Amino acid sequence: MYPHKVGPLLLLALAMFITGVRAEWLSDEQAIMGTAVRVELWHEDDTVGRAAIDAVMRDMYRIDRLMSTYKEDSELSRVNREAATRPVAMSRELFDLISRSLEVSEITEGAFDITYASVGHLYNFRRKTRPSDEILEKALPAIDYRHVLLNKENHSIKFKRQGVRIDLGGIAKGHAVDRAITLLQARGITQAIVSAGGDSRIIGDRRGRPWMVGVRDPRREKEMAAILPLSDTAVSTSGDYERYFELDGVRYHHIISPASGRPVTGIRSVTVVGQDSTTMDALSTSVFVMGVEKGLSLIESLPDVEAVIIDAAGRMHYSSGLLRRQSP
Ligand code: AMP
Ligand code: MG
Repeated sequence: MYPHKVGPLLLLALAMFITGVRAEWLSDEQAIMGTAVRVELWHEDDTVGRAAIDAVMRDMYRIDRLMSTYKEDSELSRVNREAATRPVAMSRELFDLISRSLEVSEITEGAFDITYASVGHLYNFRRKTRPSDEILEKALPAIDYRHVLLNKENHSIKFKRQGVRIDLGGIAKGHAVDRAITLLQARGITQAIVSAGGDSRIIGDRRGRPWMVGVRDPRREKEMAAILPLSDTAVSTSGDYERYFELDGVRYHHIISPASGRPVTGIRSVTVVGQDSTTMDALSTSVFVMGVEKGLSLIESLPDVEAVIIDAAGRMHYSSGLLRRQSP
């Protein structure tokens, strides 16, 4: 008999069609902050879900206008122009993120250093140009996070010397993702994934199953080196393939050693898993600079943070918590 063939799923689908409520995953992707921003979420009500995605995208544009060093009129660009001369007052949000960056500098013994930009701005990845040795050596003393002085009383910043520049490229995307998650949670969303380039955070899971997050093979774009099943967590990857050019057989990429002012060698990618995106973003960049041994020992010292490192020979290194999770 015909009605017997109509399974409960189809009936449910029909019911939803009839009432006009379509529960499904909604998503959007836009180019913001020089990268791909993607939001995917589950909501019973399409209209509510779409409005939440739009709110996240708007906030990402706002953060870009505040913190981009490519935009002359951003708050951060103004800081870079004026803070060597006089204290510059900032918004609470920018002040807090710079404070957080300096804290990370302390725990990574200067591997993470937003003043890397004092030399970093001399590399141009679009034009494929790098500073001469002479120019680089002259700019190098301006890299030191201790040149950045923050005043909590009036949220102002001052640089100790001329030539200092800061750039939040190693932490701002994580911050933006955390803000996005807060916005979604305030709208009652319990299942979502938000990514800005290599920085992602998941709330809930994928309808009862974990999200399968791939760690890219650093030399083969479409291939995965590992897959991590994740829910309710943040994950960030830093890679030497994200932004780079090659010159005379040397790969000049975007993660700069504060000690030398040159791109870090020895590692191709670092993936860090933990609670919040701001910390994971800063940590993935930090571990990249610190190298396999020091980087892993930092990760081991932090509760609830794990890492996967792919070194220059393509070898994989895991923190102990991931090794435990992998064994049966
Ligand atoms: P990520 O993709 O999160 O690893 O961030 C890389 C970005 O961090 C670069 O594009 C720079 O904007 C910035 N960066 C590079 N070197 C450093 C460093 N040593 N400390 C902090 N930020 C850095
Ligand atoms: Mg990072």
